[in-house]
Amino acid sequence: MSDSVSTVRRRMLFAGTSGAALSICPALIPSAFGKAPMAGSQAISVHRMKLGNFEITTMLDGFIEVPPSVLQADPELVKTLLTAGDWPPAPMRLPVNTFLVNTGEKLVLLDAGGAKMLGPTAGRLPQCLAAAGIAPGQIDEVYITHMHGDHLHGTVTPEGTAMFPNAILRIAKADMDYWTSPEEEAKVPENQKARFIPAKRAVAAYGARIRPFSLGEELSTGIRSVDAAGHTPGHSCFMVLSGSARMLAIGDTIHVAPVQFPRPEITVAFDWDQAKARATRLSIFDTAIKEGIPLAAVHLPFPGIGRLRKNGDAYVFDPMPWQLF
Ligand SMILES: [Zn+2]
Repeated sequence: MSDSVSTVRRRMLFAGTSGAALSICPALIPSAFGKAPMAGSQAISVHRMKLGNFEITTMLDGFIEVPPSVLQADPELVKTLLTAGDWPPAPMRLPVNTFLVNTGEKLVLLDAGGAKMLGPTAGRLPQCLAAAGIAPGQIDEVYITHMHGDHLHGTVTPEGTAMFPNAILRIAKADMDYWTSPEEEAKVPENQKARFIPAKRAVAAYGARIRPFSLGEELSTGIRSVDAAGHTPGHSCFMVLSGSARMLAIGDTIHVAPVQFPRPEITVAFDWDQAKARATRLSIFDTAIKEGIPLAAVHLPFPGIGRLRKNGDAYVFDPMPWQLF
């Protein structure tokens, strides 16, 4: 800034705070200026981006609380990593994102959140849809990465009916076979049997409108399954493609950002096959970096879409810049 311009601006500044402006009686200034009750909760969160000719709407269903002890690692290491990531030591609050893909031909929802079945902190998908101007009856297809409650419960109303009355539900056959099997349910300890409830509710609500798919299958024009088994027997990612634009919805390939990006070998207790879940995460992360594919993750901070890069052995997640359109 030149001296002359700077001098003029300084004069203008002083002019604005002198004379009449300073002589206003304080009693005439409204005393409640800016005062308001605290909202006490996060605003309904909806984010949009374009992907080729598609439009992706990310909706924050809320969060679930999980104890750090689910991480299969030394508790001191976990504490150090959480602290380094500015997370409180416990409980861990995992965001729950859902992704709506508008292909121009269809509305496809990728995962549906946890409804209120996992506590009051999730289940905002219906409000998010309303904010996005979408009625549940408009959704054509719902693709489920796996049949855990924080992804599947949102497909069913509290009364047990289909939340998406006109939609078909696509779920990997390997997950359907496992989560609807009385034999598999009989094998797990009593305190884990509740994990089979989401599948029962979805089957009761959708019946024949659940159409199982094979891992790797193309599900609709521009969306195909990618085999990501490990977290569950039929855990599936979804590759979304429009023209040359791609995005991989990775479901539960990662749960706890400040721990599993720096130490991707760390698994969680609810990984069905620990070794396979670990190998799948590393393989998907490395492929995403090599091929430059952005990721969309259910449990990363909203909207959970970004690119990975490597820093030594650690992965670093760079959120995508917001698109203004
Ligand atoms: Zn999950």
